[in-house]
Amino acid sequence: MWDLLLTHGIVVTVDKNHTEYNDGFVAVQGERICAIGHMSELPQDYSAKKQIDCTGHVIMPGLVDAHGHAGHSLIRSLGDGKPGWEDLAQTIYYECTDSEFWRAEGALAASERLKFGTTTGVSMIGSTPRSELFEPLASHFEGAVSTGIRELAGIGSPYGVFPKHAKWWNGQTLLREYDVTPEMAYATTEQSVKELNGIHSRQICIVAPGRMGHRPDESIEANIEHNRKMFEIASKYGVPLHTHAYDDDVEFMHRYTPEVLTPMLSLTHSTGYSDEAINILASTGAWVFHGPSTNMHTKGHCPVYEMLKRGVNVAIVSDGSASSRSYDLWRDVKNTLLLQRFEHRNTGILSCGKVLEMVTIEPARALGLDKEIGSLEVGKKADIITIDYRQPHLFPFQMPVTRLVNHAMGQDVDNVIVEGEIVLHNRHFTLFDEDKMLDQAKEAQDQMLWRLNRPDVLINDRLYTL
Ligand SMILES: [Zn+2]
Repeated sequence: MWDLLLTHGIVVTVDKNHTEYNDGFVAVQGERICAIGHMSELPQDYSAKKQIDCTGHVIMPGLVDAHGHAGHSLIRSLGDGKPGWEDLAQTIYYECTDSEFWRAEGALAASERLKFGTTTGVSMIGSTPRSELFEPLASHFEGAVSTGIRELAGIGSPYGVFPKHAKWWNGQTLLREYDVTPEMAYATTEQSVKELNGIHSRQICIVAPGRMGHRPDESIEANIEHNRKMFEIASKYGVPLHTHAYDDDVEFMHRYTPEVLTPMLSLTHSTGYSDEAINILASTGAWVFHGPSTNMHTKGHCPVYEMLKRGVNVAIVSDGSASSRSYDLWRDVKNTLLLQRFEHRNTGILSCGKVLEMVTIEPARALGLDKEIGSLEVGKKADIITIDYRQPHLFPFQMPVTRLVNHAMGQDVDNVIVEGEIVLHNRHFTLFDEDKMLDQAKEAQDQMLWRLNRPDVLINDRLYTL
């Protein structure tokens, strides 16, 4: 007897043959897919403990969002219209948080991702990130995995000016206040990878420094040491190495620490790259994670189409979710098409199927998880979403991949299954009380704002100006 059976859906597998079943089924045993096919192939004597009729739905793999920022869900919109958003984010993360902030935010962000169809998410702790303390990452994991999502999260050396001033709170009680040095991050990064992996099957701790390559505030020697140290920890524990990189960062790494440029390294958002950088990426297999909604696009261009043509590995990410972004990857596949087609003045470049792969099987490959997730195939983990297409903006429903990429939105996701467990059923969470989670998130934000004591961040003086 199967544990779960989804029937009568349009199945889009995203496997390497691009297999689709117009009236199909997917069967699950334990945490894995055990059968998949056309309804006519369903065995006569089948039985299942639970069956979901997916008439009017697409059945497809859960999305993989390979880059976002833990903390951002509780600082969305804050400081909008004012200069210095990065400084505000750093002050909040370093001086105004406690364990409950990171736990409640982890649950809120993971819930948003799940409701938009993302079953695997990657989060860097903070912006740059906060990595002198173990607690923010541990609390983030606690909140995120309680929702049912598969969560990869990590820390590594931050960037920016040192020493950074830090405070650590419990509610309205200040527990500690100190200066942060880059060296503090090395020890905490290794401790995190060592202690936070293996606690839960859906919790994977990675190494995620704020930026690698040529950080402008640091000397060449400090950058070389930083790049090597981050690579050493990731290699020692066999986990992905994920970071931001811009401008000449790739050339810097290639010149001084070429060993770090491997397919286990992923670089987001990759704006301002030269021709030489593209050649280096193509020859080493290091990944580019393109976030079309990122603020960095105001400073530079990410040459996605050129990189794909030249053999660079590229995935699409949300960069969720502050100051103005969303965890809705459906927006980002569409935004990727728009940006690349606009830049090339050509509506014929990049296909809908390719960008769909760039939020499913391609990021799974980047994270070393493509044998387990990223497509619907027998033997893989049952990370499955269903999309309700009996809605005016999707109906009459033909050409599934084209229609979904151009017209679907996160809110169209109806059911979400992670490792065979139904975590969202008809848009209702099954593992926790959504109202309670939202109230806890608001309370955690209220506490953070009390510590920040800057009522002006909630007022945009430039709201109706040009
Ligand atoms: Zn980012």
